[in-house]
Amino acid sequence: MDFLSFYFKNWPQKYQKKPESGSQNQYSADLIFISDLMIVYTYFSIPSFIIIFADSMKNLSAFKALISQPQKVVIVTHFKPDADALGSSLGLAGYLKKKGHHVTVITPSNYPEFLAWMPGHEEVIALSKTSKAPEKKAVTSIENADIVFCLDFSALSRINELGDWVGKSSATKVLIDHHLDPEKFAEFEQWDTTAASTAGLVFDLIGELGDKNFIDANIANCLYAGLMTDTGGFRHGNTTQKEFLTASELVGYGANPSVISKLIYDTNSIERLRLLGFVLSQKLKVLPEYKTAYMTLTSDELKQFGSQTGDTEGLVNYGLSIKGIKLSVLMYDRKEEIKLSFRSLDDFSVNEMARKYFEGGGHKNASGGQSKLSLEETLNKFLSILPEFKEKLNSNS
Ligand code: 5GP
Ligand code: MN
Repeated sequence: MDFLSFYFKNWPQKYQKKPESGSQNQYSADLIFISDLMIVYTYFSIPSFIIIFADSMKNLSAFKALISQPQKVVIVTHFKPDADALGSSLGLAGYLKKKGHHVTVITPSNYPEFLAWMPGHEEVIALSKTSKAPEKKAVTSIENADIVFCLDFSALSRINELGDWVGKSSATKVLIDHHLDPEKFAEFEQWDTTAASTAGLVFDLIGELGDKNFIDANIANCLYAGLMTDTGGFRHGNTTQKEFLTASELVGYGANPSVISKLIYDTNSIERLRLLGFVLSQKLKVLPEYKTAYMTLTSDELKQFGSQTGDTEGLVNYGLSIKGIKLSVLMYDRKEEIKLSFRSLDDFSVNEMARKYFEGGGHKNASGGQSKLSLEETLNKFLSILPEFKEKLNSNS
């Protein structure tokens, strides 16, 4: 019998005899009742405390020793970084710089304009397809690095050609991530698929190292941006009490929710809004028998709306906002390949679909992938696999 069952067993006798109200007995009975409530409350609080404060990096003391001396650090995040990728990278960079390390952040591509406010972004080496110069700088940094941090991705293929350089580098590798199915390439891992954001994991790690006092408003704003966007503004199913606790602490360290929300969500160009209008009125299709919505965008259509990196971000969510829809997919031609974005509700795993058919992956309810076929062929492929998922799409879970 566990402690609580044992404790409850005595409750009927304890509370059977009702003392006269206002009597001395009444007061002591009240006190006993309050102390009982406190015991029950503490009992239920203990597990959540353990979960919240347990170390998520397994060999934390070895990691602590590794970063106890100034090191040459490279932080890499995934291709076409989103706010969590860039925010977690720049938040970690800000912290490590304060600890005396030499830090270089590399992104395998450019990033959306609406992230170009993040403190430290001016120093990021962003690879571009057109210029060779920054790529050499990036390779040299990786070759000379003592530590390479890989943030917000779990497979080296997500950083394209940089993956080869990271793979063969003699630097100690550290993975901080929350995606499913990670590759084993890092000596240290802070990997938790239940975490809503990589930014939250960086925050946890700084806490586990006993260094929260290093968090300033710049670091807090970067981390808050990652947490806010990967939870869809604290609305997605991955939003738990933990995310609110982290957000609350970050605000305590100087993060400004309304400013960050404005910078990320409300700095649209008119072209981006027109693209949204075009997609919603002309391109959004619904297949009620599969509880599916999808949209496609050709490279000409993207060009017509002067589309920039990041302009397609968030479009896929509109499909999922339709009542009764469980799966939403956006397919667009980004020239090198067709990019697919998947979103789903409840137990329907888009990670499975993206991995099996579109060389991709991600999370259960938000994944991405690509296809080397034409846009039309990619759409046909998608339509042809839907029957395989019909039962799951129509189930109630
Ligand atoms: P998005 O649709 O916003 O590009 O991506 C949704 C989620 O899936 C993000 O967590 C992103 O990191 C992940 N993701 C996007 N594209 C790919 C991909 O090609 N491969 C894998 N493994 N994950 C992806
Ligand atoms: Mn993320």
